[in-house]
Amino acid sequence: YEKPVESSVIRTGRSAGEVIILKNITTFKELDEAKTNFIATVSHELKTPISAIKMSLKLLTDERVGKLNSEQAGLVEQIKEDSSRLLKITGELLDLSQVETGNIQLNFVPANPNEIINYAVNAVQFQAEQKHIQLEVIGSDDMPKVNADIEKTAWVLINFLSNALRYSPERSKIIIKTTVINSTVEFSVRDFGKGIDEQYRQKLFERYFRVPTDGNNKAGSGLGLAISKDFIEAQNGSIGVESAIGEGSRFYFNLPVQR
Ligand code: ADP
Repeated sequence: YEKPVESSVIRTGRSAGEVIILKNITTFKELDEAKTNFIATVSHELKTPISAIKMSLKLLTDERVGKLNSEQAGLVEQIKEDSSRLLKITGELLDLSQVETGNIQLNFVPANPNEIINYAVNAVQFQAEQKHIQLEVIGSDDMPKVNADIEKTAWVLINFLSNALRYSPERSKIIIKTTVINSTVEFSVRDFGKGIDEQYRQKLFERYFRVPTDGNNKAGSGLGLAISKDFIEAQNGSIGVESAIGEGSRFYFNLPVQR
């Protein structure tokens, strides 16, 4: 080996012989980096053809191309949904690989918390209406500014909100709140959905983790909260969740107030 090798040696047997197992930890690290680069390349390459598929599907439902019968139209809608999901997952994989290779580009500005909230709430308004869920925003007009990357912070909030919408019953309510705590602003999203069992709560922020009973909900990848954690910690913030089964969950993050 050219590089220093950290090795563990396991010896077995007595006189008949010895088995020595050398584990090259350096190689594991290199493999991990190679894997991350591979994921970045693949997800980047996949985005273009998936976007092209979405465009073609849009054309296919244009009456000028020819009218589809209801069965065909149903199938096209299904493919549209699946390709949106694919695009979301490839986007998440790309974000994740950027985080892992230390390539997150953060654009820190003094940001108004209310503007970030409004942007995120608007982005999910349509989804909320589909389930007749009320989005209630609680905050004050004179919030201090936070030192944040607006796009990444809004991304995290939208992720919280999409999850809250997904795991809430129809006609329920979601509360989006900003509070000043010490020298931070806390952003929180509280839902009245099914809640999360205590044994899973800390694991939620790990990559690919999904509550086992949600595995058959095909919409998720288990990456959203892991990326959220990376985005918030990269901005010197902290992230967490409180929840009670049957009562709902409250996901929150804190960002430092701009000095
Ligand atoms: P995804 O939603 O794509 O599966 P996330 O990382 O965003 O990935 O969430 C991980 C898991 O956490 C989800 O699969 C779900 O099991 C659980 N979860 C997240 N938000 C909520 C919520 N508001 N209520 C109940 N469970 C949730």
